[in-house]
Amino acid sequence: SRQEPERELTDGFHLIIDALKLNGLNTIYGVPGIPITDFGRMAQAEGIRVISFRHEQHAGNAAAIAGFLTKKPGICLTVSAPGFLNGLTALANATTNCFPMILISGSSEREIVDLQQGDYEEMDQLAIAKPLCKAAFRVLHAEDIGIGIARAIRAAVSGRPGGVYLDLPAKLFPQVMDAEAGRKSLVKVIDPAPAQLPAPSAVQRAIEVLKGARKPLVIFGKGAAYAQADDEIRDFVETSGIPFLQMSMAKGLLPDTHPLSAGAARSTVLKESDVVVLVGARLNWLLSHGKGKSWGEPHSKKFIQIDIEPKEMDSNVEIVAPVVGDIGSCISALRDALGKNWTQPPADWLAAINAKKDENIGKMASRLKKNSTPMDFHGALGALRTVIKERPDAILVNEGANTLDLARGVIDMYQPRKRLDVGTWGVMGIGMGFAIAAAIETGKPVLAVEGDSAFGFSGMEVETICRYNLPVCVVIFNNNGIYRGTDVNPSGGEDVATTVFVENARYDKMMEAFGGVGVHVTTPDELYRAVSEAMDSGKPTLINAVIDPAAGTESGRIGNLNPQSTVRKN
Ligand code: ADP
Ligand code: MG
Repeated sequence: SRQEPERELTDGFHLIIDALKLNGLNTIYGVPGIPITDFGRMAQAEGIRVISFRHEQHAGNAAAIAGFLTKKPGICLTVSAPGFLNGLTALANATTNCFPMILISGSSEREIVDLQQGDYEEMDQLAIAKPLCKAAFRVLHAEDIGIGIARAIRAAVSGRPGGVYLDLPAKLFPQVMDAEAGRKSLVKVIDPAPAQLPAPSAVQRAIEVLKGARKPLVIFGKGAAYAQADDEIRDFVETSGIPFLQMSMAKGLLPDTHPLSAGAARSTVLKESDVVVLVGARLNWLLSHGKGKSWGEPHSKKFIQIDIEPKEMDSNVEIVAPVVGDIGSCISALRDALGKNWTQPPADWLAAINAKKDENIGKMASRLKKNSTPMDFHGALGALRTVIKERPDAILVNEGANTLDLARGVIDMYQPRKRLDVGTWGVMGIGMGFAIAAAIETGKPVLAVEGDSAFGFSGMEVETICRYNLPVCVVIFNNNGIYRGTDVNPSGGEDVATTVFVENARYDKMMEAFGGVGVHVTTPDELYRAVSEAMDSGKPTLINAVIDPAAGTESGRIGNLNPQSTVRKN
């Protein structure tokens, strides 16, 4: 009989897996279903870590924060239409925060979708994703998978990082092609986020401005944390002697206890500084757009801005010295340009900051030591502050209103990229997704400090935490509701518009339902002991921390953003 030489074949499933692996993308966060269920199975069989969630938004948030932590795009995998839409919130949030991620969604048949003939989960996903992310691509042919994934990676991590959508129609997965041709079609992306050096003239301009400063200040944002230029940043700060503030997710880039940290004198330095160097921090609402009361006299300061995105310059106020490039390159160029004749900032500026710091830290100290029942926020946070001080390499995830704003101020961070929170949108619901990815990507213990309302947005993922046996300790600040658990219905009924939750809810029992450890605590001492034990054991733990329902303030520190009615009828 004639022997036909056997042709080795591959298909869409395997080419996608091979392309991801070739580029070091070894973890997928997702929710299985049609048409990507088998893809997940095969990916796992080929050595990719596949983490299955209960809802796509949390898988997406996990992918996004994985991108922030690793500088590689986090991968989220979803089913079509509804699953895709659930993942889209996380993709938009990632883009807003400049986190690199790729949302890969299976989709229905093009021919049917485009004629709107009513396919299973029919939706023109590519068109819908486009305005909500940095770039969106679709791959129709197996031989284009390599290029498609290469484009998605470059779009996510080069320049200003962000979210990318990759649309993979169901028909692509089983498409067959010659294995050798398939191998050759794959692309290993070389230098996906190339260094971008600042122009020497821009560096010189910035140095001239800095030399004229009497009250200089540096503000680091999460772009600086993302850049992983930790040594260069420390060197610049310590050589220049300029005091600094760290935005929420930049905390720990330098220890919050560093002598040049002006964190405890924030309002003073914002008001009084005369030259401000922004490093990977946007002058958006989180910095009052660089103007108004919190910035002191109008036009009293000059801004220098380091950012990889040239369009960011002058977005809110005039930037007198834009320095465009990656933060590592820019900050070392600035450091070198300080030169031998650099003089340290005036001593009276540093003395004024230190005096304010001492005053504020002193005021806070007694409140943090209060061991009362029910706990108030400061007492409870005092306990958690000690936990992080004793375990500086643990990762802190934080969301809520009061729980967020007060924790940010109270809990000092000591190492870069250890504080993960609600970011640019101040969005609720990142908690469990961030905690899961933080544990998976770093292998470090994770402490998630959650308002009871914030926790509700992703609470079902405690099952995921238990299923993968992750070293995550969730602490719920349980004050019976959103903001405060004390609202009433002004028309006299039982139901309350602003949500007072079930009183004395036992969130700890949720954890026990899935085999994790649940603890109920009512004092800061108990809280400290329970968290320490959880961090030592590495067991999935949820601690229900009872907080006085009357202790908070509405919307935490941003109550002023609520529009007020002047004709309110009661
Ligand atoms: P924060 O909220 O902490 O103030 P933002 O998200 O407002 O931080 O700002 C982050 C900034 O960092 C964005 O403008 C982004 O373009 C910039 N950025 C991100 N990565 C880099 C990088 N590697 N080099 C330079 N700038 C970066
Ligand atoms: Mg609450």
